[in-house]
Amino acid sequence: MSPVADHSKSRLATRLCFAAAGFRVACWAPLVPFAIASIAAVERTEALDLRESSLRMRRNVMQPNRVWIAVLLAMFFAVSLTITAEAQENGTPNDAVWRRADELLKKLTLDEKLQLILSKYPSNASPGGGGGYIEGVTRLHIPGINISDSATGSGSTTQPSSTFPATIALAASWDRQLSYDYGSEVAIQLRAQGFAMGLGGGANLTREPRGGRAFEYLGEDPLLAGEMLAERTKGTQSRKVMASIKHFAGNEQETNRMGGDSRINDRTLRELYLLPFEIAVDQGHPASVMCSYNRLNGEYACENSVLLTDILKTQWHFPGQVQSDWGATHTTAKAINAGLDEEEGSDAGPSYFGRVPVLFALANHDISQERVDDMVRRKLYSMLASGVMDSPPHGGEKIDFDAARTFAQSVEEQSIVLLKNDRRQLPLSASKLKRIAVIGSHADVAVMSGGGSADTMHPVTGSFAGCEGLEFVDHNGCGWWRNPWLKVPVPLTKAIRELSPVSEVEFSGVQDEQAPFRAYSPGEIVDAVALARRSDIAIVVVAQPAGEDFGDLRTLSLQNPSNQNELVDAVASANPHTIVVIESGNPVLMPWKDKVAAIIEAWYPGEAGGRAIANVLFGKVDPSGKLPFTFPARDEDTPTWGATGAISKDPVYSEKLNIGYRWYDAKKLAPLFEFGYGLSYTHFTYSNLSLERDPDHTLHVSFTAKNDGTVEGAEVPQVYLGIDYAGEPPLRLGGWTKIRLKPGESQQVDITVSPRTQSVWDTSATDWRYIPDAVAYVGSSSRDIRLKER
Ligand code: BGC
Repeated sequence: MSPVADHSKSRLATRLCFAAAGFRVACWAPLVPFAIASIAAVERTEALDLRESSLRMRRNVMQPNRVWIAVLLAMFFAVSLTITAEAQENGTPNDAVWRRADELLKKLTLDEKLQLILSKYPSNASPGGGGGYIEGVTRLHIPGINISDSATGSGSTTQPSSTFPATIALAASWDRQLSYDYGSEVAIQLRAQGFAMGLGGGANLTREPRGGRAFEYLGEDPLLAGEMLAERTKGTQSRKVMASIKHFAGNEQETNRMGGDSRINDRTLRELYLLPFEIAVDQGHPASVMCSYNRLNGEYACENSVLLTDILKTQWHFPGQVQSDWGATHTTAKAINAGLDEEEGSDAGPSYFGRVPVLFALANHDISQERVDDMVRRKLYSMLASGVMDSPPHGGEKIDFDAARTFAQSVEEQSIVLLKNDRRQLPLSASKLKRIAVIGSHADVAVMSGGGSADTMHPVTGSFAGCEGLEFVDHNGCGWWRNPWLKVPVPLTKAIRELSPVSEVEFSGVQDEQAPFRAYSPGEIVDAVALARRSDIAIVVVAQPAGEDFGDLRTLSLQNPSNQNELVDAVASANPHTIVVIESGNPVLMPWKDKVAAIIEAWYPGEAGGRAIANVLFGKVDPSGKLPFTFPARDEDTPTWGATGAISKDPVYSEKLNIGYRWYDAKKLAPLFEFGYGLSYTHFTYSNLSLERDPDHTLHVSFTAKNDGTVEGAEVPQVYLGIDYAGEPPLRLGGWTKIRLKPGESQQVDITVSPRTQSVWDTSATDWRYIPDAVAYVGSSSRDIRLKER
């Protein structure tokens, strides 16, 4: 079965042509004009001497011996076509970049080679506040590689950087171009700071809705995550910054994050957890893939030869380098032979890829020189292909933080999801509001941000001290977190004042900077209720903090602080026009859902979150985000809760293909809000569905979408597939697009579904198998299906 998408189309076409006798005519047909032209050329030469031939040419008569020439020439062109197609095959001797890397490799001494496979600077000594540094080889003009985290912006610990909305927000935009731009904007700052590699983004799926790093990833669907990641990767690398995609693979939870053994069967791996990486490798061509901390089916991911060599490098033809997560290397020979090319983060303990252990392994014949060369060539290849070799970043460049903030705002505006809007409570009309209450979550100064390596050092604002009061599965408090509450120049209260200058905007909530996560006191709740009662509307902001190394959430109930549900409930009882704004990286339970008038999910909104949220509340922006994961009604309904809600240290992915919406559909459970869901201030209709299937099984889904509401807005039409094959869940996402329509405007929408997206992993054939006649469902969410056809 073919790779996921198009970059190897020509290679594939050639292979298909010559593999299948039935295809030969089709292969040769395009060669006929070449053959005729060649005959013409031969004849032209002969014609100089042979008048007769020249006459024949003019009469355009082809003699039988000429037919043989035509056949021979056609064969010649067929062969050269194959070679041309192969020449495009990345990472092989037919690839010019590979050959350049190989030439360079030949000039390196063994010591220099070893220098290129280990990031030997401890993170706290990496230049520019990066996460790692690989020394270059000056005599050969191989620059050093300075590496930084980059999940939601540059992670430099010493240089200021912008904080963009969390990547789960980006996924909620369902906007591929935006994802490309996000990758590019982050890379602009990385390069300006001197970083040649960005560690982002991540594409582990939201299997565990309580996952501590869900905010850093791209949701619960492999196609959505994969395509968004591919675009982000392209955007980053368009700026000559190498992108590393992570964490490969089976790294879906924080519990026992360094050593857990994820047990995942082949089909589940291929159809779900490997797929985003496969798509990103195929379409985005990342320089690097970061293997994860966990074990996968018994072997550490960074020494798992099935994962790194058989699948990634051999089956997916990945030409770049595999780097370890920070401290995820456990052996020298085993890891090298399994396919790990570079060790990172050897801050604590021995370096497995240091000079001594690698030389020892070579001398002992535990590893081969060819393999060491392959490791180095892959690194050089990635540097050359990304442009870093010829044009390394120098750092010290000025960053336009204002432009970046404008971009951060536009990302957030396209990512906010309107979950509920009773009696058109939103958008707010400034002229009608004398008094606006804003309550909770430090909304007068800050927005929530995610913790850990996805955090950034913000240019202007400081941070609240301490994480006291936080509670997670593994521990209390938090790990590394520079800006739990990111103080922003324009917080929500200020943005609302700007949009509604006639209204009195008052804030009520915890203002304690030393204990920013403590519960609301009874007095604070009484004050909030009193404010809500004397206001026309009450906007309650609630937050769910999470971060790397904090462990997973105990529950999806709002927990930190623990009495936010009480706060919302009390305010909603006092004011029927209560609007809840959620800042979270995970789904949230909403026991107060029926009591409040409107709800928006704003994710971790980044440094321009205040303005973006206010613009949506006041209708300056029509909300168009759609949920990238399911919001369940109860913890107990989630696929990983089991009998007790305990998160296993060695998770068995026993729900198999039933991740996220697939689980709720298969179990016939009603979620609170389904995957793909999100309201708008306008309304869209769908009609005229038609399907067309190409001989190669590509499916074209066409229909008309119309904005039949009263304001301009964007919509994300979604195609789902019903695949008739044992074990498949009722629906899987097959494709989507994002369109913007004026009131009354219609658009013909065409969505192409690749044969792979209509395939299942056939375990007995250990290959993909196309399943014919998928039913196509078209709708506005995974449960709001408007059209259907087989
Ligand atoms: C994280 C990675 C990160 C690395 C470097 C690790 O703990 O898992 O995502 O890129 O640290 O900071």
